[in-house]
Amino acid sequence: MPTMHDPTSGTDRETALQFLKGIGPKRAAALAEEGITTIRDLFLLTPRRYLDRRTVLPLNRIRLELLGEEGLPDQVTAVVSIVRMTMPVSQKGRKRLVIRVRDRSAEADLVFFRGVQYFSRTWKPGDTIAISGVPELFGGGLQWTHPEVEPVSDDDSEQIHTGRIVPIYPQTAGLKKVGLSSRVLRRTIENLFTEHSESELVETLPTKLRARYGFTGVVETVRTLHFPDSESALAEAVERMKYEELLALQLRLARRRVDLRGVRQKRMLVDESPSARALVDRLPFDLTGAQRRVLDEILADMRSPYPMNRLLQGDVGSGKTVVALLAMLVAVDSRLQAALMAPTEILAEQHFRTIGRLLEGTGVTCDLLVGGLKAAARRDLSERLESGELDILVGTHALFQKGVEFKELGLVVIDEQHRFGVKQRAELMKKGEIPDTLIMSATPIPRTLTMTLYGDLDVSVIDELPSNRKPIVTAVRFESEIDRVWDFVRREVASGRQAYVVYPLVDESEALDLKAAEERFELHSEETFRGSSVGLLHGQMLWYEKEDVMTSFLNREIDVLVSTTVIEVGIDVPNATVMVIENAERFGLSQLHQLRGRVGRGSDQSYCILITQDHYRYQLRKGQSQNDQRRERAASIRRLEAMVETSDGFRISEIDLQLRGPGDTVGTRQSGLPDLRYANIIADVEIMTRARSDAMRIIDADPDLKGEDVVELRTLLRSNRRSVSFGDVG
Ligand code: ADP
Ligand code: MG
Repeated sequence: MPTMHDPTSGTDRETALQFLKGIGPKRAAALAEEGITTIRDLFLLTPRRYLDRRTVLPLNRIRLELLGEEGLPDQVTAVVSIVRMTMPVSQKGRKRLVIRVRDRSAEADLVFFRGVQYFSRTWKPGDTIAISGVPELFGGGLQWTHPEVEPVSDDDSEQIHTGRIVPIYPQTAGLKKVGLSSRVLRRTIENLFTEHSESELVETLPTKLRARYGFTGVVETVRTLHFPDSESALAEAVERMKYEELLALQLRLARRRVDLRGVRQKRMLVDESPSARALVDRLPFDLTGAQRRVLDEILADMRSPYPMNRLLQGDVGSGKTVVALLAMLVAVDSRLQAALMAPTEILAEQHFRTIGRLLEGTGVTCDLLVGGLKAAARRDLSERLESGELDILVGTHALFQKGVEFKELGLVVIDEQHRFGVKQRAELMKKGEIPDTLIMSATPIPRTLTMTLYGDLDVSVIDELPSNRKPIVTAVRFESEIDRVWDFVRREVASGRQAYVVYPLVDESEALDLKAAEERFELHSEETFRGSSVGLLHGQMLWYEKEDVMTSFLNREIDVLVSTTVIEVGIDVPNATVMVIENAERFGLSQLHQLRGRVGRGSDQSYCILITQDHYRYQLRKGQSQNDQRRERAASIRRLEAMVETSDGFRISEIDLQLRGPGDTVGTRQSGLPDLRYANIIADVEIMTRARSDAMRIIDADPDLKGEDVVELRTLLRSNRRSVSFGDVG
């Protein structure tokens, strides 16, 4: 993009903070600590909250109003002076601070239980202060508990601090130390508007967009954010800020979408794919309507002159693999190769096995590439790949290392992509000419998150489970009841079913974990399930050891598989009908949902039993706890409840999002989630949707934002860079 004067790079004398009236080097340094280095930063300092000081009343009026029927508005302000300060001690030995205040009409008490020392040092008798908060009548007298208190001076400046809605700014220890109270910041920012607003607050939204949404210009918006005339004006200003942030986000994604699109060499995709047809014919089931629909969407992309970048979302067990395989066969019949990348070796192995089975007798060739392959085998594989003899390659990320060269890679399918992160995706795109890319995700995520994380992708959703599925019965059981759970598992095993028993990682350290795994295994094989065949699967095993165990489980040589979370994703054993999860409260919600998805894959009734400690029993009955200290515990409970309540992956992900926030829901910070000041990725769906369609339209018409009519958007993208950090997106 062309460069122009960058209003964010102001370290010039005119724009440096220390030269502002009332700031100076010390305060400038304290502000810099908070990331505020320019006048513009200061303009854009976000008030933490607001105090409604529109109602300023004398004390006796407040008293009368409280006695009367009408009552008072929620917040009232009085300007008073301090008469005296006392620190009585309660019977329990707790100190409190009581400040007696008065104005011309009456007296009142301010009571503080917290910050006693601080307030007693800050104020002294004779000080004039403004108090805001909710007054009460207490023993006939007027009293405020923990009101907002600010000093009041006699000068003319008072009207920015009282008689209006006033901003309260973040108060860190550093700012406090140099006296940068809300009051001082208010004053300073107010001063900025007289001299600096025109030069520093450059418009970031084109007139057309502002007109469409009825947004005010940037100067007025920012002024309103600091000094709102009304609640509705404030709400409008906040909405503009949200829109702006989300527009910047969506412009970057739209731009990236254009970049990813690229162009590809001409190639022909067959209209009729005999291999795909043959596979559909020999499947023991009919594709669901949703599977057929998304397959059509995928094939349409594969035929288009632009490479596909599509996300395929579908709950666990919705049958994504078959869809992907059919797409791969269409590529193969079109003389292209296909690759399927799984997040772990064990899953790659499973895909390889499933695909191998389905391809028997079709003449389509398939092989597996994982980390530990011997040099000779690998060389042989490379040769077949380069000569085009090999049609489909399944593997882990080892697929995309150096030295793995395809003859003509036409389609890449990535399973369970959230494990890979955005970076690998980008790397993949760099591999030779641009193949079609299909990303499969079994973690359904709410629409807003999809628009954010995968805003540069097209999205297909399999929103229907195969009709032969019975809902999984999910129950919470307590440790004291565990014998009955084991009884139940033994009965299922006796009738020919198989079970998983999963427990969380015990420790970060590998050695301890291995020990725990082995102990668990011993207990279950020698006592709990004595006489049955018990297998063990854990993270410290080598891939072929895991593979052996999984194969035995699949072949029913193992009845009960004791495992850590390595089985979490994608394992498919239809005869397994019981999933017992020990210490279930320690797992995340999407993890629990994934684990549950390992059963209920055949036509038999399946069960998911969540074991937790007995002390959760009480809370489960009582419902969610409000207590702060118990919040983590309450969240655990909520997760277990959610599991019992629903098996709809999208619903689960919404609850997860509420409990944990968007960053954690998708796993990591590096997920590319932006850091937004005003907008909320969960709550602001509508604004996000608008911003997204606006951004797509704008970028489609003018990918580099060269036009005069969008010059403001170039400013937006530049100035927004800091608050919206993208990781490697954009
Ligand atoms: P996902 O990867 O979406 O979790 P899979 O592709 O592993 O799901 O499919 C789960 C199981 O359902 C597999 O055993 C698969 O063969 C089977 N399956 C897929 N599609 C259908 C369908 N339309 N009807 C019945 N079973 C299906
Ligand atoms: Mg799968």
